Amino acid sequence: METAVIENPIPWPGGARCAVAFTFDMDADSILHLGYHDTADTRMALLSALRYGPEIAVPRLLGIYREFGIRQTFFVPAWCAEHYPRAVELMLEGGHEIGHHGYIHEHPNELAPDEELDRLRHSAAILTAATGARPRGYRAPTYRFSRHTADFLIQEGFDYDSTLFGDDIPYVLRTKAGQILEIPSHYGMDDWPQYQISREFDYFAAVKAPRRAIEVFIDEFEAAWEFGGLWNSVWHPFLSGRLARAKAIRDLLRHMVEKGDVWFARLDEIADHVRASIESGAWTPRIDDLPYYEGPIPELGPARPARVKPA
Ligand SMILES: [Zn+2]
Repeated sequence: METAVIENPIPWPGGARCAVAFTFDMDADSILHLGYHDTADTRMALLSALRYGPEIAVPRLLGIYREFGIRQTFFVPAWCAEHYPRAVELMLEGGHEIGHHGYIHEHPNELAPDEELDRLRHSAAILTAATGARPRGYRAPTYRFSRHTADFLIQEGFDYDSTLFGDDIPYVLRTKAGQILEIPSHYGMDDWPQYQISREFDYFAAVKAPRRAIEVFIDEFEAAWEFGGLWNSVWHPFLSGRLARAKAIRDLLRHMVEKGDVWFARLDEIADHVRASIESGAWTPRIDDLPYYEGPIPELGPARPARVKPA
């Protein structure tokens, strides 16, 4: 007998073997302004590479989704919604979900708690105005979820987060403020390690051929399909919307459709399904209590400045 590798698999709609979510974080050039405020405007080549996301890649990717008749989730920093309204309009026209991804990709765990909350609210208001609906989901920029982020998401009425890596299937984050659903992914399901090379962002991984890069995502899909999991992938239009890479995504989609019994869904649809399954008693989620620590662990004595790397 085969060992069940997911202890409490959730029943997916229609008896699907797994749920599949392609999520794209449309960061555009927000990340360059954030990292190099004083000189970003002078870095024309990198600006052009990042603007390729909303200008060229998003329309292409939306065309691929249209071809397969699927609707997916985009996480968009509010600043990007202000600067690239056409990309946002196209996403909405295609029936896709737009989630919260900070204002200009600032890192929540580097902000004071009141500043983090202010920015969360301010950006939610901008996205609400841009899309006509409050964002239901959140992903922390660069996965920099703080010790307070879950509290703030609960307080502000978000339905789910999709930043953390703590399980293979949706689970519940519980804090002093209440509970929120986590729809996890993991860093192996992100396209940066496959495709990004940039002196500015200290990223020097060798660029993979799309057919090699996509193998990682295919292997993850085969396992999710076999064991009743969740395939929640994290892509970036400026990286994966390039011609050969977009073709690899299209080929992957074709493979998934041909394999069959797959539930393609937006993350808010997954959140709705999970919540309904919990409320009907059909499924019981795992609960993760946050934060894990209230501060640096005491066993190592008083907190010290981070050790300086040897030159
Ligand atoms: Zn991002």
